[in-house]
Amino acid sequence: MSETAPQWIHVAERLREVEARIAQAARAAGRKPEEVTLVAVSKTFPAAAVRAAAACGQRHFGENYVQEARAKQDELAGLGLVWHLIGPIQSNKTREIAAHFDWVHGIEREKIARRLSEQRPDGLPPLNVCIQVNVSGEASKSGVAPDEVAALAGLVSSLPRLKLRGLMAIPEPGGDPRPRFRSLRSLRDGLNAQGLALDTLSMGMSGDFETAIAEGATLVRVGSAIFGQRNYDN
Ligand SMILES: *Cc1c(COP(=O)(O)O)cnc(C)c1O
Repeated sequence: MSETAPQWIHVAERLREVEARIAQAARAAGRKPEEVTLVAVSKTFPAAAVRAAAACGQRHFGENYVQEARAKQDELAGLGLVWHLIGPIQSNKTREIAAHFDWVHGIEREKIARRLSEQRPDGLPPLNVCIQVNVSGEASKSGVAPDEVAALAGLVSSLPRLKLRGLMAIPEPGGDPRPRFRSLRSLRDGLNAQGLALDTLSMGMSGDFETAIAEGATLVRVGSAIFGQRNYDN
């Protein structure tokens, strides 16, 4: 393992802080810290920053842009990292996504789900996916409407090369995220009551992951609290 580059020394400390806050939030909610997976969102940061986090034992990384992620994956091949695509999915990128990611969080359309299933290479396990839900009504454009989730979930769970793990949401900025997280959880519980077995609630970012954990998040996507402020964003 190579040395951590000096400009990424802070990553180790911030990662430990975030892990401690996750554990504390979980215990405060009567949950076990191990029930919450931390996805370190490394978009816009170089492979050296990911390497610094990986050197501390961090395994799950989230990226928004396929080309950017691919370069890091190539550079860090062999570290056993788990790659999550958390950003919007362009239909001309599905083949590459199916071949190079372990998880996709932003499923919103049947057509994209079908393509990912068809294009997932045979040698790999089924692709883990979450359906992105718009729990913010008119305040948000991305995600499927809550009353359309059941139909899409039924379709996705029938696709042979996908494994539907759960639901994902990004509450609108500036609002109170708690009722949004609560809505996502009750949607998941409703689907499970109808016979699905969804184990994942992907919700919570740097500004609100503790609230998300209190409301049942099993996977939090945390970027700036670990790596620092981003210079550009999507
Ligand atoms: C960028 C991003 C994150 C991380 O955001 P931070 O506020 O930096 O923690 C999480 N989820 C998604 C979907 C993102 O695009």
